[in-house]
Amino acid sequence: MPVGGGIELADVPQPDPGPGQVLVRVAGAGLCHSDVTIARVPDFYGGGPFTLGHETAGWIAGWGPGVVGLEEGAPVVAHAEWGCGGCATCRRGDERLCPVVAPIAGAGLGANGGMAEYLLVPAARYLVALGDLDPRDAGPLDDAALTPYHAIRRARDELVGGSLAVVIGAGGVGHMAIQILKAVSAATVVVVEPNEARRSFALDLGADVAVHPDDDLAGQVRALRPDGASVTFDLVGTDATLALAASVASPRGRVVLIGTKLGSFSFNLLSLPWECRLHTSYAGEPRELEEVVALARAGHITVHTRHLDLDAVPAAIASLERGDHGVGRAIAVP
Ligand SMILES: [Zn+2]
Ligand SMILES: [Zn+2]
Repeated sequence: MPVGGGIELADVPQPDPGPGQVLVRVAGAGLCHSDVTIARVPDFYGGGPFTLGHETAGWIAGWGPGVVGLEEGAPVVAHAEWGCGGCATCRRGDERLCPVVAPIAGAGLGANGGMAEYLLVPAARYLVALGDLDPRDAGPLDDAALTPYHAIRRARDELVGGSLAVVIGAGGVGHMAIQILKAVSAATVVVVEPNEARRSFALDLGADVAVHPDDDLAGQVRALRPDGASVTFDLVGTDATLALAASVASPRGRVVLIGTKLGSFSFNLLSLPWECRLHTSYAGEPRELEEVVALARAGHITVHTRHLDLDAVPAAIASLERGDHGVGRAIAVP
């Protein structure tokens, strides 16, 4: 991302790891709809310039003084959200919320990310070993899988037997959310998605029902569970999807906003069922990324990928914005 926003291809120098830092040779970096938003609100991310890419996996290529215990060539996935590591928030394990580096910092999120030959990671604690997983396909385990995993963990009290989860948006994050819900919860999973190919893909991944957003979602949800949805994950975040999420919510249920389209929902005492919570959810932490990697290694979740060259990234991000990006996750391979 150049200074002031937008997306362009540029030559960057190969980074040199300093004390505590680790250099990763990039195998692939996932393209995310939030790259569209990041390029559009550059001031939130420090103004640029920096390399995009917050879903990166690769091989350890070197490290600076003070780093111990790494093996050159070992495959890893890099956690993108980097805190200061020393403040009270970081020390309780919420580095993604670190107030010292606020509002936001990390790979492709203000600092240089993984859409390049090399990624410089500030500390070894942000790397999770992939074992036998192929790093060319593993970058989206961070973000595309970690973000819904963290949100689903927070909602686990609602995702019990007889519960119903709605996933709005079956793109890159959505296709992981469906698999994670099926792997770790007993909820019936209803997917909302306008694109027919992605609806049918959602059913292939284990969703119980896939609905077009114009096709009486509230009626279909309430036919399955008269109370409504126990939890709705809005992975899009427009005015329309937030209204849809509110329309299916149950009393004491949850609406979780993850999608980056920056739409709004007018909130008052009567706009949601009683005691329904509406909150955002942001990324996750390395200890949760380890759990996501374990789910993938056990075969419970799979990132469905297609690969493209770095010079094809600007066009692919434009297609994410238009919504004609196909199924699964596109991965830039340097
Ligand atoms: Zn993302
Ligand atoms: Zn901190």
